[in-house]
Amino acid sequence: MFVIDAASLTKFQTCRRLYLLSTAYHPRKWRPRSLLSACLRDAIYQVSNGADPVLAAKDARLRFMQTAADAGLDMPPGGDPYRLAKDCCAIIDVIPRCVAKLILLTMQPAPDLELEFDTHWRTLAWADDSSALHRWVFVDRIDPERIESEGHSWYVAGDVMLSRTPMTLHFVELGQIRKGRMRSPWTQAYYLPALRNGDYHFRAKSGAALKGQWETRYLADDTHADVNEWAGRAWTEGAAVTWMQHVNVTVPSEDACAATTQMVRNEARDMRRAVDGQWSREWHQYPMARAACDGPFLPCVFQPACYAPSVVNLSTIPLYVPRGHGTINQQLAPPSATQPEREVSA
Ligand code: SF4
Repeated sequence: MFVIDAASLTKFQTCRRLYLLSTAYHPRKWRPRSLLSACLRDAIYQVSNGADPVLAAKDARLRFMQTAADAGLDMPPGGDPYRLAKDCCAIIDVIPRCVAKLILLTMQPAPDLELEFDTHWRTLAWADDSSALHRWVFVDRIDPERIESEGHSWYVAGDVMLSRTPMTLHFVELGQIRKGRMRSPWTQAYYLPALRNGDYHFRAKSGAALKGQWETRYLADDTHADVNEWAGRAWTEGAAVTWMQHVNVTVPSEDACAATTQMVRNEARDMRRAVDGQWSREWHQYPMARAACDGPFLPCVFQPACYAPSVVNLSTIPLYVPRGHGTINQQLAPPSATQPEREVSA
């Protein structure tokens, strides 16, 4: 059975080399944002299915720290991975506690869809009890352009149009990595140094940002912080809901869905020919897609291979690891069963 999904189709259309290389290898190290997103999705999946948010956050923190220690984090030289990991763990502590205050539906993996008798489309979004799809997306900042680009991606358009099922997109604003630290609204509160009680807030009662004499307090740097109180206050002050946005995606007309399904079917045949070696057995015989090398958000993880002066055998260099059996690039299905993509930026 040949299985494709939004991730593999996106790679194939971006660069044939990228698709072929990523079917066989993944980078040894994780990009911090990718690992953070993967751990948060795991935690939210568990919370949606009734898990205690405190325990779900603890599991996600453990997974983040363990993976960061074993595989390593892909950081610029000179960066402090432990400090960055602590920042990410603080975010993992807060978000599941706040998400648990939303009305959540029970989730399960959505079923695969048959494209042809031996080719399936794997739906990466989760399905609720009514079969409606849900996808959680973690972004630097929620803005109309980001929402629109996500809506037009295969992750959304592919899943919605091939399954003819509406989707709810759940955006969560994470903030950015700046000067080696993960600066997120979820883990930044404000206090007045002149007040001795050290009381802190996330925003003014009017909803405005706290500026002027207010100074920033970072959760990751505060060993005495009560995370439950922190998350509760972010919620009751109304700040947490502004860092999330839920967008409904409806199913386009049947004509559009049928045309898209046919397009995906054709692409799947080409992907199969590439993987089976009917076009070429070697990844380096495909032309480079140089416009994609620097990526829309991050540089391609296979640049060290493609830009080497001679052909590289990826199994001989320590930057990459052969994909294990069952490695799946999903949004995610049940967390224990999946190994999400390391190179995605979302
Ligand atoms: S480095 Fe460029 S050419 Fe090579 S796989 Fe990545 S996008 Fe394709």
